[in-house]
Amino acid sequence: MRTLFLRLLPTFSHFKRLQGTMATHIVLNTGAKMPIVGLGTWKSPPGQVKAAVKEAISVGYRHIDCAYIYENEEEVGEGMEEKIKDGTVKREELFVVSKLWSTFHPKSMVRKACEKSLSDLKLSYMDLYLMHKPMGYKAGDVLFPFDDKGLVIPDNTNFLDTWEALEELVDAGLVKAIGISNFNHKQIEAILNKPDLKYKPAVNQVECHPYLTQEKLINYCQSKGICVTAYSPLASPDRPWAKPEDPSLLQDPKIKAIAQKHKKSSAQVLIRFHIQRNVVVIPKSVTPSRIAENFKVFDFELSKEEMNVILSFNRNWRALSMEWAVKHKDYPFHEEY
Ligand code: NDP
Repeated sequence: MRTLFLRLLPTFSHFKRLQGTMATHIVLNTGAKMPIVGLGTWKSPPGQVKAAVKEAISVGYRHIDCAYIYENEEEVGEGMEEKIKDGTVKREELFVVSKLWSTFHPKSMVRKACEKSLSDLKLSYMDLYLMHKPMGYKAGDVLFPFDDKGLVIPDNTNFLDTWEALEELVDAGLVKAIGISNFNHKQIEAILNKPDLKYKPAVNQVECHPYLTQEKLINYCQSKGICVTAYSPLASPDRPWAKPEDPSLLQDPKIKAIAQKHKKSSAQVLIRFHIQRNVVVIPKSVTPSRIAENFKVFDFELSKEEMNVILSFNRNWRALSMEWAVKHKDYPFHEEY
């Protein structure tokens, strides 16, 4: 009996180790479970995004990351609706995220903006609704209101007031949880210290990958019970302003070497990196083989040493620095974190 126990011991401890890092969900401060891998949909073109969403759901994704500004929510909604209708998934098994765009920050505009996304997505509620940026832009239907110098025209709203309007969406039952995106730690602190705060942000969605590891911001958020979602985990190679001289994460030989060791692709290593930090990750693809590949990340583990090596690649490089907004009073990236 004792020998059997001793023989099984390594198996048990291996299982326990895997349990910790193979988690498929993060529990939010609302108690809801958020799938740790989701499908990104920015730049996913109409005509392709519906098929991408359907493919993702077919291969097991249960989390879809959307936004009004992606201008494709109607098609994303069609994709989800068809997979619900054909019985692949139930609405309550999906975790759907959308975001309030910056030209709708005045309190009077927030509910209408949320209802528009809900109606395009063909949903009666959202699982998570994020303030897309801390910065309000000149309110109205021009989505990027620029001045003649190419800088965004701000409005005079305060994100603390906009947060109150998001809290009302929870009370109205339109959204299950609310959160923020592109907020630095001082801006988060301002929300947490707000008198009469009703709901803490559940999530802060920020750019994160080995060239921008966000260690301080992640530590700060997690210490406050705020889950971090990593956007542009592959460093957004299809971003419209990419320059040939910009660094390419997917081609990085050091990432490739780690991937080869595990018989995985660079993308899979880049995705796995977040899972092991308890960070939600939302790679975007409209290519069926890549959609499937990006979800096959629960059957291997990066060692502590490999995680540290990857963390050492940090160079505080942003794929999305939002240079057109550097003069905005709430521009988030002047702060270190
Ligand atoms: P990603 O870092 O996810 O990269 C997407 C690009 O990588 C596409 O060109 C895609 O090509 C390619 N790709 C995907 N999988 C693979 C693979 N396995 N091998 C090789 N190439 C691959 O970029 P995003 O900037 O789109 O970020 C992901 C998501 O994060 C967004 O779609 C959006 O939902 C969210 N986001 C949120 C922001 C915010 O402000 N809150 C800002 C930016 C992003 P293809 O599609 O052709 O397969």
